[in-house]
Amino acid sequence: MAKDSADWNAVDDLDFEILNFHSSPSNADDDMDFEIVNFHSSPSSPSPVVTNDEPLRLPIPMSGLGVPNEQLFVTQRSLPELARGPPYFYYENVVLAPWETISRHLYDVAPEFVDSSFICAAARERGYVHNLPISNRYLIQPPPKHTIQEVLPLTKNWWPTWDTRTKLNCIFTVNASSQLTNRIRSALEASRGEPPEEIKRYVIEQCEKWNLIWVGQNKAVPLEVNEIETLMGFPIYHTRGGGGISRAERLKSLSNSFQVDTLAYHLSVLKPLFPDGINVLSLFTGIGGGEMALHRLQIPMKTVVSVEFSQVNKYILRDFWERTNQKGVLIEFEDVQDLTKDIIVELMKQFGGFDIVIGGSPCNNLAGGNRVTPNCLEGEQSLMFYEYCRVLNVVRQTAKEMRRS
Ligand code: SAH
Repeated sequence: MAKDSADWNAVDDLDFEILNFHSSPSNADDDMDFEIVNFHSSPSSPSPVVTNDEPLRLPIPMSGLGVPNEQLFVTQRSLPELARGPPYFYYENVVLAPWETISRHLYDVAPEFVDSSFICAAARERGYVHNLPISNRYLIQPPPKHTIQEVLPLTKNWWPTWDTRTKLNCIFTVNASSQLTNRIRSALEASRGEPPEEIKRYVIEQCEKWNLIWVGQNKAVPLEVNEIETLMGFPIYHTRGGGGISRAERLKSLSNSFQVDTLAYHLSVLKPLFPDGINVLSLFTGIGGGEMALHRLQIPMKTVVSVEFSQVNKYILRDFWERTNQKGVLIEFEDVQDLTKDIIVELMKQFGGFDIVIGGSPCNNLAGGNRVTPNCLEGEQSLMFYEYCRVLNVVRQTAKEMRRS
């Protein structure tokens, strides 16, 4: 008999993911408002950096410096002197990350918070610190579908009128158990006809919590991997990587990934700047959300230096690189800590420098049971943020010296 374990094992991570989903265009106030999240670290926690993060105000709606089809649009911003100009950088993390500390280590650039549900059919609230231009951004074509039923048209036949969801919640690693699907079906079948309010409430709560979709009469099930790939802006089977990768591994990698359409919207400004292609330093590459965004924007990747620890993810990226007939050079490193200053300088001389450093450092220590402290850049994984900063500083400093000589 299948074990109903997902409900229990997942609680920590799920609580975290749910915390991360606290606004959506459908439930946010129309007026600009702010939600306060407290990022104070525990006083006893060991910390490599003194973090005095003040409560940060998260914007509601979480539409950053502008999202397509929204009226609130910023087309200019003033970046701190040290952050201006190329090489560009683009850093991503979850909204609960200690953004004041992150920002302080990235030349004091303020994070841009965006919920991907403004761009696609699934929520994903993330902060992005970058020095990219922001005017004339555009969506990759064809534009992502906006509602669950547009992405998954077959669900239309079975979707109850009282389930008014049009967007899914943030995609996360854990899936609901088959027993939950059975419990929901039994509850609805017992009602015969329109279910009582209490049952509807229970079912909707479970559907929202576990991102369930309707695939048959009274049958609400978790998303399949290929459906998640589509929602995240990848072609289906992207994470199959040529085979041999388990469903659990594919789910895990997808749940850590960039939402490609959101990223591409931000990176689209690079297209006119680099008509001949771009040299990318891709830190914590994962399944290649950054590379996929550039590919879908048709910005040629002359060079990608990819730094990624996981064999599974490396396999997926290599498979993507081959399948899409990339003409550029892919160079792989395993551990970001091996990327010494000498190696970075050598690579930059070889290719004439990097045009952008993209990365979303691991956030495992910011999540649920793995959480080290509430503001937790201290966990072994989350410490990788400081590696991003170290590498970026070397790249920007070396670029300056190369320009001078
Ligand atoms: N943005 C990526 C995912 C980032 S998740 C995407 O689009 O898929 C963080 C990634 O960092 C994970 O894939 C993890 O394997 C990798 N990682 C963790 N520690 C690392 C290290 N020391 N060096 C390189 N990569 C590392």
